[in-house]
Amino acid sequence: MKVLYDKDADPAMLRARRVAVIGYGSQGHAHALNLRDSGVEVVVGLREEGTSWAKAVDAGFKVSGVREAVADADIVMLLVPDEAAATVYRRDMHVAMREGATLAFAHGFNIHYGQIVPRSDLDVILVAPKAPGHTVRSTYTAGGGVPALVAVANDHSGTAREIALAYATAIGCGRAGVIETSFVEETETDLFGEQAVLCGGAVELVKAGFETLVEGGYAPEMAYFECLHELKLIVDLLYEGGIGTMNYGISNNAEFGEYVSGPRVVTAQTKAAMREVLNDIRSGAYAKQFILESQAGNPTLHARRRLAAAHPIEEVGTRLRAMMPWISAGALVDRSRN
Ligand code: NDP
Ligand code: MG
Ligand code: MG
Repeated sequence: MKVLYDKDADPAMLRARRVAVIGYGSQGHAHALNLRDSGVEVVVGLREEGTSWAKAVDAGFKVSGVREAVADADIVMLLVPDEAAATVYRRDMHVAMREGATLAFAHGFNIHYGQIVPRSDLDVILVAPKAPGHTVRSTYTAGGGVPALVAVANDHSGTAREIALAYATAIGCGRAGVIETSFVEETETDLFGEQAVLCGGAVELVKAGFETLVEGGYAPEMAYFECLHELKLIVDLLYEGGIGTMNYGISNNAEFGEYVSGPRVVTAQTKAAMREVLNDIRSGAYAKQFILESQAGNPTLHARRRLAAAHPIEEVGTRLRAMMPWISAGALVDRSRN
């Protein structure tokens, strides 16, 4: 697999092209700010009644309604929540977008599962940074970037790939590495990663470890430090140097325990469950569940958030983090919504 960098992209593809970033949330603010700092002309499209409007104005952007923003744009990056995107596209973009313009996404969900069927004269591209929005912004301002996937679903102009590459480098991803993929592959791997490993898997592993220690009679404070707080230190080592570096950094005792007990916790049964998760993603069963959830007003999301907030690990965590102000609880959330 070939990884592409700044030198493989032609920044001229964005010169004299106006980009409309629709949405100013986690990804939206990062794309808009990075593009502007890379010399690209950016307008932000939002709904007037939302809270983002003032933030984008404060950041110095020209802000307008979605329909007005896309009418003047050569490239439109749609960065509203996945469950809102189809309505926004149908209502404010399908007719209003310029003939031959480029429609861009940061996740393939709506195209892959047929929720958005774009006009055939539009180029349809994907530029999917592999990081939360606040990291897309902070690594860029620090002189780095995050890796990204790019793909083309419709190449009407004959230059869709070049536009995607230029966009990826303009938001900093060409510094870290850009991989060409397809909407199918990006959508399915992204959903799988967040469900099985990064979000779903990690959270359940942390909670199960915490509960096991507390039920075994140990103090919740100890369980919190062992099972949640320290996870970051281990993940940082994994991130910096892979599994070998992590094992080098921990004690022989911890490494030996990893080999003895890791496979007892994450078993063949776990992997079979992961395959089921992947099958539900591939068959569209998960997508249908998510779309219906949103149409029903998110009853499960609301209930599960309430239940998750009531878990003892959250109470003890809030208390302990208050004593470690340098961890600055909530800073990431605030910044990502900036
Ligand atoms: P957010 O939830 O942060 O987006 C919220 C933004 O969308 C706000 O500016 C909000 O404005 C606006 N918005 C919401 N509904 C509407 C609407 N109906 N009309 C107009 N604007 C609206 O989204 P993310 O940044 O998390 O996700 C955007 C895309 O990026 C998704 O496709 C996601 O899969 C993808 N992605 C996200 C990542 C992440 O880290 N979050 C990582 C990689 C990809 P208002 O203030 O008016 O509500
Ligand atoms: Mg992802
Ligand atoms: Mg995702």
